[in-house]
Amino acid sequence: MNDRRVALERLKEELEVRLARYRQHRERRAGPLDKDMEDQPLETRDDEVVASLEAEAEDELSQVRHALARIREGRGEACECCGEPIEAGRLAAVPHATLCRACQGA
Ligand SMILES: [Zn+2]
Repeated sequence: MNDRRVALERLKEELEVRLARYRQHRERRAGPLDKDMEDQPLETRDDEVVASLEAEAEDELSQVRHALARIREGRGEACECCGEPIEAGRLAAVPHATLCRACQGA
């Protein structure tokens, strides 16, 4: 019935799996260095990419959790800022949106 909630639950699981993988990557990298020196510049760049992906996924996950909490409270479709209903098209495109288009843009 509530497709958006299903989509959010799925997104949440997906993000949690992704975050676990990024953390694993970091823990592996924190272990003893057994790589050739030549590999290191590439590895460092890779770490930076992973770190920024991790931060992004964390942000998104907290948004998803926040949107799910609002749905549970029965306010999932109301803009957090102005209280007007969030556009259906926007919710379809961005299931974790908690602001209407106008407030998001502001
Ligand atoms: Zn609004």
